[in-house]
Amino acid sequence: MKHTAQPVQSRKLTHLSRMGDDQLREECGVFGIFGHPDAAAITTLGLHALQHRGQEAAGIVACDGSTFHSERRMGLVGDNFNKQKVIDRLQGDMAIGHNRYSTTGDTVLRNVQPLFADLDTGGFAIAHNGNITNALTLREELISSGAICQSTSDTEVILHLLSRSRKRRIVERFIDSIRQIEGAYALVSLSNDIMIGARDPVGIRPLVIGKLGDSYVLASETCALDIVGAKFLREVENGEVISITRDGLESHRPFPKRPAQPCIFEYIYFARPDSIIDGRSVYDVRKQMGLQLAREAPADAEVIVPIPDSGIPAAIGYSQESGIPFELGIIRNHYVGRTFIEPEQRIRALGVKLKHSANARVIRGKRIVLIDDSVVRGTTSQKIVTLMYEAGAKEVHMRIASPPITHSDFYGIDTPTPKELLAANNNLEEMRGIMGATSLAFLSIDGIYRAVGYDKRDPLAPQFTDHCFTGDYPTTLTDHNEEGNEPRQLSLLSEVM
Ligand code: AMP
Repeated sequence: MKHTAQPVQSRKLTHLSRMGDDQLREECGVFGIFGHPDAAAITTLGLHALQHRGQEAAGIVACDGSTFHSERRMGLVGDNFNKQKVIDRLQGDMAIGHNRYSTTGDTVLRNVQPLFADLDTGGFAIAHNGNITNALTLREELISSGAICQSTSDTEVILHLLSRSRKRRIVERFIDSIRQIEGAYALVSLSNDIMIGARDPVGIRPLVIGKLGDSYVLASETCALDIVGAKFLREVENGEVISITRDGLESHRPFPKRPAQPCIFEYIYFARPDSIIDGRSVYDVRKQMGLQLAREAPADAEVIVPIPDSGIPAAIGYSQESGIPFELGIIRNHYVGRTFIEPEQRIRALGVKLKHSANARVIRGKRIVLIDDSVVRGTTSQKIVTLMYEAGAKEVHMRIASPPITHSDFYGIDTPTPKELLAANNNLEEMRGIMGATSLAFLSIDGIYRAVGYDKRDPLAPQFTDHCFTGDYPTTLTDHNEEGNEPRQLSLLSEVM
């Protein structure tokens, strides 16, 4: 099923006007464990391993069977969940956690997950990776019928839908609720005697199941299982709901069966290279992307230089295929966060400078191939090409191990509005000029599929969510307009942190 961005509905959202502090987009990491005496400590470790998926805030909710204990903090897991007394407060043998990543506006504590609500069935906590593409529409309906929204998070609508469901069991209510939402979701949630996980009907965002002794673990990526020593059991399938109780694990299939369409960007950028997605090592796939790139776009050069860290596996693949030596010509300062975390363009530009330094000795006087995984706004490539020339490079051949990003994302990876996307507004030669590179080439969409072992042109082969490159959105986009990722704004409340 293919969708293009829908025109925004004409209804006027007068009471949902401007929101100063946040918008409904984020990429995140989720983790949960059921039936382990050190549930909170293990969740902390899991969130550590998923830190690359979100660095703005982190939260854990634990439950001891009757009482829920919550700690939600701004900043990194290691800075906030580093004291025994914090972990000790999070009592209970079940816990869920969340790393939050929001790239526009400020993150405020009320949006930090897991979100929690008291329902007539008891307490319920939920952590979400993805983006609900009809959240604003649902929110409007909920508010019109008397709901009071406490956050601006799209995830909150799930709690409202749960509380309104007439079903008796919590898992039935959960299913009732997710049947009403659209878009991307990998969810991990907790009541006082059940942990529930779910993936949206096409499985856009990842979620895996592991086992640690007798305890079940749910996590965004396998690297979070590895850190706690859990055994990988399997992925939660697209459209599957998993419930875990003292009696074990149960699988529910509330949606009609359809082919999975996971997000290709997990392979390109988001997932950690040591994670395994759909049986493939992310690291190996990224190397294959570099290898395909070397075949599609060779360059007459002396050194292959990755933009660290995201360009490293592809650069290794490019080097192996081309026979041109690989050198660390750029050193990354690991104490500066990811470029995207700083919401404003001018800060982001500064962030790039802080983050990367030239290792001039391997660059000076050389014709180099510079490799990155992707170009979004073009900020990183422009800065790094300049850095390379300043360090004495003779020629800089820019090679990107994914296709040009021409369309916005609405599913939680937050590529910006088309007007900010370099490739949506410039042709290849213009992009090369803007970057100041000697030459520029991107991996083709066929090349990306080949790197994963699939054929984009074979109608029977598995497909990915690849709308960033193709404009084919796998779900309806009720809240969004054709201009791109400009969700309608929320209330007038702006909070000072
Ligand atoms: P830009 O500088 O705007 O062109 O962004 C490209 C850089 O950001 C590349 O080095 C990527 O590794 C990284 N990147 C790509 N997609 C994302 C994303 N959704 N969030 C954060 N960083 C990203």
